[in-house]
Amino acid sequence: MSRLSRRALPAVAVSGLALPALAQPRYPDRTITVIVPFAAGGPTDTVARLVAEGMGRSLGGTVVVENVGGAGGTLGAQRTAQARPDGYTVLVHHIGMATIPTLYRRLAYDPVNGFEPVGLITEVPMTLVAKRNIEANNLQELIALVRRQRDRINLANAGVGAASHLCGLLFQSALQVPLTTVPYRGTAPAMNDLVAGTVDLMCDQTTNTTEQIRAGTIRAFALTTENRVSALPDVPTAREAGLPNFEVSVWHGLYAPRNTPREIVSRLSTALQAALSDQNLIRRFNDLGTEPVAQDKATSEAHRAFWQADIARWRPIIQAAGQYAD
Ligand code: ASP
Repeated sequence: MSRLSRRALPAVAVSGLALPALAQPRYPDRTITVIVPFAAGGPTDTVARLVAEGMGRSLGGTVVVENVGGAGGTLGAQRTAQARPDGYTVLVHHIGMATIPTLYRRLAYDPVNGFEPVGLITEVPMTLVAKRNIEANNLQELIALVRRQRDRINLANAGVGAASHLCGLLFQSALQVPLTTVPYRGTAPAMNDLVAGTVDLMCDQTTNTTEQIRAGTIRAFALTTENRVSALPDVPTAREAGLPNFEVSVWHGLYAPRNTPREIVSRLSTALQAALSDQNLIRRFNDLGTEPVAQDKATSEAHRAFWQADIARWRPIIQAAGQYAD
């Protein structure tokens, strides 16, 4: 028996009337909103919009994206955790869901128990990129420049807890050089400033950097994954370019607020799986240096296990660094 019909039972019993079988409310019968906790046009937004389109087709309803950027992705997560658990508000978030529970010690929502995981989406490599006219031709020259001009070079990110923040921390710690950071509501506005040359460096997902790198509006110095990606064949991995211990990739997942009925979570998972098997989405993901997860990872159970393991993986690292958002 579904939770929806169970909730309707007492009223029927009390009335004692022989009512016709209760009609199951159709889901969805109105627009579903996917919250993206970063600015429009950025990498999380790009992933979410591709997924939303496919899910809408599979669910036979309208799925729209709403950008609730700021505070490293915590504002959009908070909006989702506090939304009605009815399947009409969901969240696409990334690796920040695993770091925020430790990084932020004061939040107005529960960053772990406030959500029902629906399914994993993708894992995206990051790139270390710089403004076009940076005075370096490869990673070693960039490192030398950063060391020489540590007081002048700045690093854009999407706030504490964002993937760009995390990747930037890894870069600074690999070099043992602290840099001034410039936070944005997402890496889309940060990218505008990088292209304009008003900030110097950024570490961001290939889903945001690939097209700019190809167009030559920014420069790429390294990929943060073990292997190169076919979308950017000329960009070396950090290890190849002589910077080991600079590896991180950014997983994304879909969440519903806690207490969303299990049937609805399962409908959402099925719709997510359908979206991720769409050839257009796969092509687009590939063009941007990534691919969807296997179908068995786009499930609530696989997502929960992966997410919990990642929270446990990051906790001691953040605690040892002693750097909190508050
Ligand atoms: N890539 C961003 C980050 O640093 C978020 C975004 O704008 O999508 O987490």
